[in-house]
Amino acid sequence: MNLGVILVLLAAAAIIAWVVVHPAMRSRRRTHQRSIPLDEADRMYLRRRVPLYHRMPEQQRKRLDGLVRVFIGEKEFVGCRGLRVTRHMRLTVAAQACLLVLGRDEHVYDELRSILIYPGQFVVPEQWHDEHGVVTEEEQVLSGQAWDLGRIILSWEDIEARAGGAEAYNVVIHEFAHYLDHEAGGTDGTPALRSKAEHARWAGIFQHEFDVLRAAVDRGAATLLDPYAAEDEAEFFAVCSEVFFEAAELLRDCHPALYGQLSSYYRLDPASWKEQLLAASPNTSGAY
Ligand SMILES: [Zn+2]
Repeated sequence: MNLGVILVLLAAAAIIAWVVVHPAMRSRRRTHQRSIPLDEADRMYLRRRVPLYHRMPEQQRKRLDGLVRVFIGEKEFVGCRGLRVTRHMRLTVAAQACLLVLGRDEHVYDELRSILIYPGQFVVPEQWHDEHGVVTEEEQVLSGQAWDLGRIILSWEDIEARAGGAEAYNVVIHEFAHYLDHEAGGTDGTPALRSKAEHARWAGIFQHEFDVLRAAVDRGAATLLDPYAAEDEAEFFAVCSEVFFEAAELLRDCHPALYGQLSSYYRLDPASWKEQLLAASPNTSGAY
């Protein structure tokens, strides 16, 4: 056997060992991290800072604590434009991001490596291709962006804007919903679903609700969902996810089929969590 063949075999063995051993090691590490409770000071902070954390049943909160520990332990937080990332910032992002995977086994955004946080909105270059192949370059001002499976970018000012607000605005939930969409291999607002039957049900309900929203926005009617959701199916899923967590009772009452589908996907029923999730506000008075 020549040296080249031996090297190839060794490389193959190393890859197989990595594929088999890495998930097992990660699973063991996560089990350990999840077994250590959050400090009381961290829990107090989250109770104050993340309303849903305060409202959820204790059993869910303990599970969320474990996910937060894993998230903070595994992901790198990078402060941009001079921002110093504090523990409170990490907790705030981690707790809201982990809400989306609270009902799912072992999923803690496995491919995600870094969360980049800017003090405020940030500018990214965008390229547009028209039907003639002409490329136009523009700059976009953003509050958040699920850049790729390895990175999510957030504006701290926009995360802060959520605190105490009556509107169902949550940039962390929004961007992490986009992440789940991307993780499923697309950008069409369809995250990974468990079966073909669920896929068919999802497609039927989401397409219908999206079409109804678009029609309502076109005629200038008031809507529960932010009109931005009518941009495309990906934004629709991201905005619906914000409302699912931040205004669960309203979504359940105004759009029961949509709420039911999201509840089935996230395997959570936040509308049943004790307190009123969102007081009625002028923006939410007229559901379409
Ligand atoms: Zn979006």
